[in-house]
Amino acid sequence: MAEPATETFGFQTEAKQLLKLMIHSLYSNREIFLRELISNASDAIDKLRFKSISQTGLLDEDSDFRIRVSFDKEAGTLTIADNGIGMTRQEVIDNLGTIARSGTADFLNSLTGDQKKDARLIGQFGVGFYSAFIVAEEVEVITRAASTGDSRTGVRWVSKGEDAFSISEVDDVDRGTEVILHLRADALEFADDYRLRHIVRRYSDHIGVPVEMPVAGNDPESSDDGKKAADTPVEFEVVNSAKALWTRSRSEITDDEYREFYKHISHDFQDPLTWSHNRVEGKFEYTSLLYLPRHAPFDLWNREAPKGLKLYVQRVFIMDEAEQFLPLYLRFIKGVVDSNDLPLNVSREILQQDERVTSIRNALTKRALNMLENLAKEKPEDYATFIDEFGEVLKEGAGEDFANREAILKLLRFSTTHDNLEDKRQGLDDYLSRMVEGQDRIYYLVADSYESAKSSPHLEIFRKRGIEVVLLYDRIDEWMMSALQSYQNKDFQDVMRGDLSLPGEAADAESEDKAEDAAVDSESLTTRIRTVLEDQVEAVRPSKRLTDSPACLVLAEFAMGPQMRRIMEASGQSVPEEKPIFEFNPSHPLIHRLDRETDEDRFRDLVLILFDQASLADGSPPSDPAAYVGRLNQLLLNLLND
Ligand code: ADP
Ligand code: MG
Repeated sequence: MAEPATETFGFQTEAKQLLKLMIHSLYSNREIFLRELISNASDAIDKLRFKSISQTGLLDEDSDFRIRVSFDKEAGTLTIADNGIGMTRQEVIDNLGTIARSGTADFLNSLTGDQKKDARLIGQFGVGFYSAFIVAEEVEVITRAASTGDSRTGVRWVSKGEDAFSISEVDDVDRGTEVILHLRADALEFADDYRLRHIVRRYSDHIGVPVEMPVAGNDPESSDDGKKAADTPVEFEVVNSAKALWTRSRSEITDDEYREFYKHISHDFQDPLTWSHNRVEGKFEYTSLLYLPRHAPFDLWNREAPKGLKLYVQRVFIMDEAEQFLPLYLRFIKGVVDSNDLPLNVSREILQQDERVTSIRNALTKRALNMLENLAKEKPEDYATFIDEFGEVLKEGAGEDFANREAILKLLRFSTTHDNLEDKRQGLDDYLSRMVEGQDRIYYLVADSYESAKSSPHLEIFRKRGIEVVLLYDRIDEWMMSALQSYQNKDFQDVMRGDLSLPGEAADAESEDKAEDAAVDSESLTTRIRTVLEDQVEAVRPSKRLTDSPACLVLAEFAMGPQMRRIMEASGQSVPEEKPIFEFNPSHPLIHRLDRETDEDRFRDLVLILFDQASLADGSPPSDPAAYVGRLNQLLLNLLND
């Protein structure tokens, strides 16, 4: 027979970059390579188990699924072999030579060059197989796909992990995949029975497939005479507990086991913030194990990014990323759902319509929200991490999940005038507990950034009276607020909108009115200003909002806010023209000066400057910036000439 041809391929550029980075950044935690390879072997077995339900002839005589880890100290090799689904030649090229996941470019762009940070990023990105190169100078993969049936011809893939890999055909290969690591000189410690058993138990105890190793005393190293008959078959024994973690009872599972299982299903190298494991019996029977990650994936905002739970039916793996079990706004939750009622041949299409799925989804949504509430109560620091990473996503839920709205609002955290911190740490319950006497509304302000929110003139009167205002400056906020009415029967009130009436106002209105009246004649000034701003504003009125600023712009009760307006304009949509209300502060010296101005041209310029400045303070540029600058310069010149 002719020697089978060997073909050489270059790695995709991204794969090369990742390889290099990984070898360097994961050096301090090298043993995780074994977890990754065992995890792949277990996935391969899951896939075959699932496929063989609907397709006969895949399993041949070998239907006892297992993963075998063995080593040869003298040769310096370590082998991980499974009898799972295997790979065809094309699959080998696709899966081991390229990084197919969308978002690879985003990932590489987000790298910082700082090894610590990059190691964390790498954890968010499943690079499993390549971790073999952390300990191996050469990796060899021999595989035969289950679909090849009786043919025993397989594929051999070899690479030193530098820039190329080669592929050839091999004869007489068992179904499944064998990964042979030729260990680096400084990684020979891994060719050791004790060490390997320890790592397997530590990282792979929970997977639902037996991991076997040669019976101790039966491997070449420890045999009495130092050599072993070549034809004695090696005996294997199971070294992990081989029971899918979620099928065990909660009280038997340690936190470490929960954490390792999370890493197995999520490709995250970091511990999760928290988890929730539940078995439900009754009308529908299912088990769920939900995890809250510590870090947002780099593609959290990418619509195509993978999301959803791992679905099992009666402990048989069915699919990854089953999206139907959680709403989109909980897309950051990872985990497993194992149903006893769904059919094994369930498809994504069926999942979309099945009422059992809807009912599980409703229950899991509540569980996830509950899990967040417990975290908020028990571990405020971890909860703050959650808010910083995922708070904006949760806001989508406040806007769209009517049934759980109160529960979600309770979970949100904001920046408010109570602590004047950019960090979002205040809950609405905190807000309610601090309301002043007579207050029946939750006041909020929407702006483009924390900076412009905290110094908005609209806050002046609230600060003066000690009334707390929630500061909103995420992109999603105005959209969210437009969907919200109230929380705990307290209406939300936009401080930039409508005619404000503040708690306790009636009591002190009289004395303040007197002071104002003494200062300017509001009525005639209102008329004069309106003549100037006629085309630009809906109305002019003296303000109850201002204490330090001369003027501000107020939105009509149902007008679209500036944030939403800018978003819509940026996306090319036409936005209805809505004029603001101009409010002036009758006790401000500038307004006094304005009131005394007899030169109508000067009066006009001053009013226009105040108008543009009020717009600037809300983060919107004047409609004619050059004219604004011209007027302001003229005013400055006049000042200098005075
Ligand atoms: P991931 O496991 O996140 O998909 P990996 O880098 O660990 O990423 O593996 C890449 C791909 O290579 C897998 O998705 C799978 O298709 C294939 N693969 C790896 N190991 C095996 C194996 N033991 N048997 C079959 N396919 C495998
Ligand atoms: Mg993997």
